[in-house]
Amino acid sequence: MSRRIWLIGLSAILALLPFLYRSTAAQPSSIKTIVPGVWFSEGDLMNFGHCNNIFIEMKDYLIVVDANFPSGARLALESAKKVSNKPVKYVFDTHHHGDHAYGNPVWTRSGATTLAYKGVTEEMRRYEPARWQSTAKARKDVAELNLSTAEPPKQTFDKSPFILKDQTREVQFHFLGWAHTRGDGFVYLPKEKILCSGDAVVNGPYNYTADANISNWPAVVRGAQKLDVTHLLPGHGVPGGKEVLAGQRQFMTELHKSVAEAIKEGKKLQDLIGSETKMVFGNRVPATTSIRLPDAVKNWVGDFLPAQVKDTYEEISQKTPHGDLPH
Ligand SMILES: [Zn+2]
Ligand SMILES: [Zn+2]
Repeated sequence: MSRRIWLIGLSAILALLPFLYRSTAAQPSSIKTIVPGVWFSEGDLMNFGHCNNIFIEMKDYLIVVDANFPSGARLALESAKKVSNKPVKYVFDTHHHGDHAYGNPVWTRSGATTLAYKGVTEEMRRYEPARWQSTAKARKDVAELNLSTAEPPKQTFDKSPFILKDQTREVQFHFLGWAHTRGDGFVYLPKEKILCSGDAVVNGPYNYTADANISNWPAVVRGAQKLDVTHLLPGHGVPGGKEVLAGQRQFMTELHKSVAEAIKEGKKLQDLIGSETKMVFGNRVPATTSIRLPDAVKNWVGDFLPAQVKDTYEEISQKTPHGDLPH
């Protein structure tokens, strides 16, 4: 093949790549009906850092699960209008991370009430305004809001579950303990057997462990497994069933077990983690690890594994939940 034809061929392949990728993987911004009146929209994590959104139709209003980043909030507002003409009354922050809660001002300006377990406000008090300000340097949508810090949820609950109920539907908001963050909230629809899990249960290699209590994580998922679940709608990754709960729990158990065994064998952190770093979804993390996890949990193993191993190592060796260590 001549160099010129080769180049034309290569550019055609490159032009097609996004479509090839999209046809097999995520379909960002598409809205999927889970059951009548409950819709799921997968966030474009790769390009915009967005989380997933869930829309729940009540008799007179909508509940949206997760505020998303500001740009994701605007997309979700559009999606809400597409699925129903009822107003968005509540937006539930599953936790304090920017991809789930930094869109709060977009929603409150549109008239909605942001809602969360009280641990979300407490986490914001711990980590803000530092994270908001560094995110605003990297993200236009956050900078454009012209605020000095994250907007905490307007309404919080302390006693779990908090329940919203009318003639058409019951929606429960649960706090089941500290897993991904101290504020992790789950949304459960008992009649429809739908569980929205935020980042406490993800479907894919998206577990971020810096603010976590890694050793307590499987117990929190075990709590979620006590609920009768047909549809598991995660904070990142595609919808699944209760096998996603089992897989996420097993991943966290295997991660903890492998690192604990390595520590028992006298391994040091530098034996488990290489010195190179790389960027993964906006986070600078170690690039390599010698830890290997069983094939059964490979759905959850990806670019974050070295960072997860490092966080787990620090948590076990310092006998303190990673979120309580300086980070
Ligand atoms: Zn998160
Ligand atoms: Zn997230």
